[in-house]
Amino acid sequence: MKTHEMIRSVRLRASLKKQRLGRHPWILATSIEEPKDTPAVGELVELTHHDGRWVGRGLYNPHSRIRIRMLSWSPNEQIDAAWLDTRLDRALDLRRTMPGSSQLDAVRLVFSEADFLSGLIVDRFQSHLVVQVTAAAILPWLDQIAQRLKDQYNPESISLQIDERTARSEGIEPRSEVIQGVLPDSPIEIRENDLRWIIDLRQGQKTGYYLDQRDNRMAAARWTPPDAKVLDVCTYVGGFALTIARHANPSQIIAVDSSAKALEWAQSNAQRNELGDRVVWEQNDFYASLAQRLEKREQFDMIVLDPPRLAGSRDQVARALAAYHRLNYLAVRILKPGGILVTCSCSGRVSRSDFVSMLYGVATRVGRDMQILENRGAAPDHPVSIHCPETDYLKCVIARVL
Ligand code: SAH
Repeated sequence: MKTHEMIRSVRLRASLKKQRLGRHPWILATSIEEPKDTPAVGELVELTHHDGRWVGRGLYNPHSRIRIRMLSWSPNEQIDAAWLDTRLDRALDLRRTMPGSSQLDAVRLVFSEADFLSGLIVDRFQSHLVVQVTAAAILPWLDQIAQRLKDQYNPESISLQIDERTARSEGIEPRSEVIQGVLPDSPIEIRENDLRWIIDLRQGQKTGYYLDQRDNRMAAARWTPPDAKVLDVCTYVGGFALTIARHANPSQIIAVDSSAKALEWAQSNAQRNELGDRVVWEQNDFYASLAQRLEKREQFDMIVLDPPRLAGSRDQVARALAAYHRLNYLAVRILKPGGILVTCSCSGRVSRSDFVSMLYGVATRVGRDMQILENRGAAPDHPVSIHCPETDYLKCVIARVL
């Protein structure tokens, strides 16, 4: 790691003189003056205002639109190996102390910007760790990160994942490999919410389970009316459907997903939990499934909507909100009076207030009253950094529609 004196400076554009950076960890290419002598991928740089005033330190990537991932806002903080260990430990400490953590088989240990380590995600599935790198600038630190994780958890394996989307935006190659230890040949099983779930670590990021919805699935189960007819749209491997089947007393659950593979996985999870006969699985598109039910005048007491990310970038927000509107509109149309809507959005670019406004638009259009009962986010191993609104990516609104 370079010493303080050798660190290169990068200047913010003059037009940003008045702008408050608010400790947001992303400095975009459009915000800085391109340095003449381009820093290397992952090089530590100092960011200054246009007039030379010091701003902070971060890691540079000349190939990414996010040019600098800010790490420190304090001139006295040296970014070195000891600093990285401390910052990792701070993230790991939270997972050790958060309520209920001792019962968790699977937990997100490090969550990128939300843990002030932009570009690094680490998940634990029992004794296996999955490191997901979403910023090329993190890669030079990989060995040290793996070593710290090994010291702290003594895992059976550590895998590295770089998905194609990251690879494209960061100018690197996608990767999916075991960097330490060995992966078991067959999928492993975790327990969560009193259910057994299959986790396929060889599938990379698609391990078959989303950890962020852990508590929302239980919240949905708590709100399920007795004898309810429930529709779980975008069930993936049965997350909400099986949790509701286990913890509530519905009369019928229909779970929809467009992916045959996910539904196969869901059925296998159902059998593993002796809930094989409790859910009807349907391979269908979300719009089609809802529209067909509207046509047939089917009615439900509870509907869960958990679509994939519909807005990946800022310019897709308007389109995503229109899609959320259409989806929620169809759902509300087939919800009985007094029915419960559990509606989620995992698009970081769609703000919580935009999402609630979208629901307001739906309620107004159908001419029904809607009450928000719970305005939820991701489970606390996915904290929200107040400095990075994008980390408040998961919205889960539980509402009653009269
Ligand atoms: N509710 C799940 C997670 C859902 S992830 C849980 O609790 O874990 C989003 C899911 O939406 C994926 O399984 C994906 O296959 C599905 N999906 C994507 N596009 C879809 C479409 N057009 N129609 C139906 N399902 C879709």
